[in-house]
Amino acid sequence: MKVGMIGLGAMGLGMARRLAQAGFLAGVYNRTAEKMAEFTVPHYNQPEALAADMDVILLCVSADKDVLEMVEAIASTIKPNTIVVDTSTVSSETAQKAADCLAKKHAAFLDAPVSGGVEGAKNGTLSMMVGGDADVLDTVRPILASMTARIIHIGATGSGQATKAVNQIMCAGINQAVTEALAFAEAQKLPMAKVIEVISGGAAGNWFLDHRGLTMTQGEFSTGFKLALHHKDLKIAELMATGTPIPLTVTTIKDYEQLMREGYGDEDISALYRLK
Ligand code: NAP
Repeated sequence: MKVGMIGLGAMGLGMARRLAQAGFLAGVYNRTAEKMAEFTVPHYNQPEALAADMDVILLCVSADKDVLEMVEAIASTIKPNTIVVDTSTVSSETAQKAADCLAKKHAAFLDAPVSGGVEGAKNGTLSMMVGGDADVLDTVRPILASMTARIIHIGATGSGQATKAVNQIMCAGINQAVTEALAFAEAQKLPMAKVIEVISGGAAGNWFLDHRGLTMTQGEFSTGFKLALHHKDLKIAELMATGTPIPLTVTTIKDYEQLMREGYGDEDISALYRLK
């Protein structure tokens, strides 16, 4: 099966490299062409041209409108029975629209958002939550396995994205807890590296503390997951949370909006530490 990748941003680049290492990658498209330079497979200058050549197309672009733009573009040239796997984080509604658009062309769609950050994409250890037909997933599972440590089929189309919203709500709470606790530690004049090392090994240990704890206390927010993107994800969760109170998420949305106004939208989500 020929596999094409659309979107070589912070996440897509790592995924495409893993696909290339495993021998699956047959072509790439990125809106900013320079990002394709390192790949030895064909570079496409339009998503439509890539779609015409591939059996499996992976997408990793920013937001709902970008996914729908790409899906509409590839739908114009896609072959019947092609499988499109969207790893972007968008709403369940967008996943359903994408699936409907591709179904008209007899192509299949899986919403397959991922968790694990740029490190997970780079190391092929992402956790992937999938909505759509289970048999379709089984067809592409060996391909997706080259960039993930865990693939779980959740249910019908959109359920992968709903699960990702759960993940993003949890990340908001963890970000609030870690940044608040480390600001407290700093105010106590504690040795931060030692505090982070010992807490990481106990009941409060978590991925975010391990990967972002030390850097945030050093004022380093350049790598990782852009705050503006997490803000986008939390707004999706807020829209979906009809009747379920999500107060930590609402607070985090407001905090991110303040940071975005101050010009920090492209920084990692650990930049929340700036407000603590
Ligand atoms: P990013 O570094 O900003 O990259 C975005 C990618 O999407 C770039 O390749 C960009 O092309 C492309 N793109 C955006 N709009 C487009 C459009 N209208 N048409 C064509 N291409 C378009 O973002 P990222 O961190 O890789 O995130 C990508 C997705 O993964 C997002 O949905 C995000 O929420 C999700 N995600 C991110 C993380 C993380 O830790 N970063 C973790 C899990 C999931 P250009 O290069 O031309 O700008």
